Amino acid sequence: MRIGTGWDLHKLKEGRKLMIGGIDIPSPLGEEAHSDGDVLIHAVIDAILGAAALGDIGTHFPPSDMQYKDISSLVLLEKTVELLTEAGYRIINLDSTVILEGPKLKPYINSIRAKLAEALSLNIDRISIKAKTKENMDATGEGKAVESIASVLIEEIDNSVWV
Ligand code: MG
Repeated sequence: MRIGTGWDLHKLKEGRKLMIGGIDIPSPLGEEAHSDGDVLIHAVIDAILGAAALGDIGTHFPPSDMQYKDISSLVLLEKTVELLTEAGYRIINLDSTVILEGPKLKPYINSIRAKLAEALSLNIDRISIKAKTKENMDATGEGKAVESIASVLIEEIDNSVWV
């Protein structure tokens, strides 16, 4: 087994969607980004890549590449899972936290879990999403940004390699 961590932050601005784990959260502000800016999925992608020591999201999906302009981060997540599978690993579980001053994410947590469970081909009980605020401290706490952290545990698909 191997473990990986990921973190991401996006500025919030008017006229953008607030995408969290593939769910469009009703909000006057959304993530500024080259892709759809889904801060949770970006942290999850880095956690997956990190667990397998496969680099980071910028290595595989550079913002300079126009094919990733406004792309759904769910597509990037699917490509990341393909990379993980090719490397001979599968995901055991995901735990994550989204840090956002508002809106409250609680009503959407189970939808986000279901969306990520589908994208990762995992049972929903292996997907944990938590929400926090920063108590009005720093830029995220002032509602100018959204952050996410994620941890992913992976294991080798074929245990016979250890025999
Ligand atoms: Mg990002």
